Amino acid sequence: MAPVNVTVTGAAGQIGYALLFRIASGALLGPDTQVSLRLLEIPQAVKAAEGTAMELDDCAFPLLSGIEVTDDAKKAFDGANVALLVGARPRTKGMERGDLLEANGGIFKPQGEAINAGAASDIRVLVVGNPANTNALIAQQHAPDVPAARFTAMTRLDHNRAISQLSSKLGVSVGDIKRLAIWGNHSATQYPDVFHTDVNGKSAADIVNDETWLAESFIPTVAKRGAAIIEARGASSAASAANAAIDHIHDWVLGTPAGDWTSMAIPSDGSYGVPEGIISSFPVTCQGGEYSIVQGLEINEFSRTRIDASVAELVEERDAVRALGLI
Ligand code: NDP
Repeated sequence: MAPVNVTVTGAAGQIGYALLFRIASGALLGPDTQVSLRLLEIPQAVKAAEGTAMELDDCAFPLLSGIEVTDDAKKAFDGANVALLVGARPRTKGMERGDLLEANGGIFKPQGEAINAGAASDIRVLVVGNPANTNALIAQQHAPDVPAARFTAMTRLDHNRAISQLSSKLGVSVGDIKRLAIWGNHSATQYPDVFHTDVNGKSAADIVNDETWLAESFIPTVAKRGAAIIEARGASSAASAANAAIDHIHDWVLGTPAGDWTSMAIPSDGSYGVPEGIISSFPVTCQGGEYSIVQGLEINEFSRTRIDASVAELVEERDAVRALGLI
């Protein structure tokens, strides 16, 4: 079988460094799938990416059939089956939101065009670089020939963080927790929802039975975990972000376990009152390489307010990039 072409942008960055070795070892697509890596970087970081490629060679991974390093998006996405868009322009001091969106438009528009022009027909895109949901929307809007649903953004790190927080609160193992959901934007407004979560056959919300803890401790801890890690580590989370990116693509391609679901930011089909087209996080199941939104969940008042607030922020971001002519 031909190797799967996996393109990683921002390959010389922190997340890239934590991601590439695991992809090459088989963690992304399983132990029977050969991968060929394409690393995209900006010209000044190509040399560093080449250094990472040398280290990848030195691991002699049996599943790694080739590595190419380039600063040319067309080459990087040519024939790509999976694209992990990690490189983005971070917000720097004094930068207005419009400037941030514009700088990212300059990255994600040409990448969307390159994906449209040359990616394989089964391309699956995950945007990690922030603001991830809106960057995914920009890329998608410039790839009109690719099914819109193939553009997704990462909320799996938020999902994993929420499971971890809940497991320590309840004194259970992470494997005992099923059906947690992240809704909305990958930002401080995200909503980690435990009202449908199952812990060894019991409702997590019933066991917790404390809306104050949810509102004042759990939700802010999950939403602000990135800042807490910067504070403790002196650098932003990288290995856990890379791990979540692997989980996202792994489950999309290979499926979610029976009886469980995961969280992915995907183009809304209008479910749960989320306006169609915006890239918002939902609980999803994956099977046969396709995801579908979990339907029929009852959304209580506590959840509704929070989902609506995060979705409103996404609508604002969409309107802002539209006003800037980026989509
Ligand atoms: P990182 O590898 O740490 O982060 C990359 C992106 O991922 C950032 O936008 C970051 O957003 C985002 N991100 C999403 N979730 C998380 C998370 N949980 N923790 C941390 N980051 C998260 O950045 P580096 O600066 O180390 O590397 C970026 C690389 O991208 C550089 O090598 C640069 O040259 C490259 N780049 C490549 C481009 C391209 O290929 N065309 C374009 C632009 C940059 P946030 O900043 O909000 O944390």
